[in-house]
Amino acid sequence: MPLALDSFYNIAICTDCPIGIPFDWIKAHMKDNHGLKCSDLQVFERLNITTPTMKSDEVEQWISNNQVIGTPVEGIPVLDGVGCSRCPYSAKKKKALYNHISAFHREETPKAWIVIQKVQKPFQGSLKKYLQVESVDESYTENEGIEDWELKLNDDFTRLMEDHNRIESSGSLDLRLMNAFVAKIRYISMLS
Ligand SMILES: [Zn+2]
Ligand SMILES: [Zn+2]
Repeated sequence: MPLALDSFYNIAICTDCPIGIPFDWIKAHMKDNHGLKCSDLQVFERLNITTPTMKSDEVEQWISNNQVIGTPVEGIPVLDGVGCSRCPYSAKKKKALYNHISAFHREETPKAWIVIQKVQKPFQGSLKKYLQVESVDESYTENEGIEDWELKLNDDFTRLMEDHNRIESSGSLDLRLMNAFVAKIRYISMLS
């Protein structure tokens, strides 16, 4: 059974998915997602526990009380995300933050802005929510280097446009280079 325990937060983790599973969802998750039948007793033995891990109603409470967590939930990916400068709202994509700010902080001064931060989505389904992770061991992170790449791309573009202007004044344009650049831009927007 692909099940592990974050004993600090008392959360059961499906190591295959990888996502936190409320105790009362474990049997259904194992059956529906992994074709495994298991009993409560097997779960207790597997996790080496004597009392249940966080259940769905407890998770709901925990998430609304802990929109910022000090350390990551073990075994769940830590992602590059964004947060709101005015409240603990976090998300993976900037677009969600723009929507949040225009819905909740539109009239406020000073204006709310978007903060780059690490986020984690410990649960899925009706408990899906991004939490801000304050301290992160760098080995946890993924998507490392994309921002650097974006910066480099901007540099490339500037250089390309300078070249373009130079070439255009001499009467020819490297279309291949331009197409490569457009393809790269498409790829970047796919990622973000
Ligand atoms: Zn799973
Ligand atoms: Zn906010």
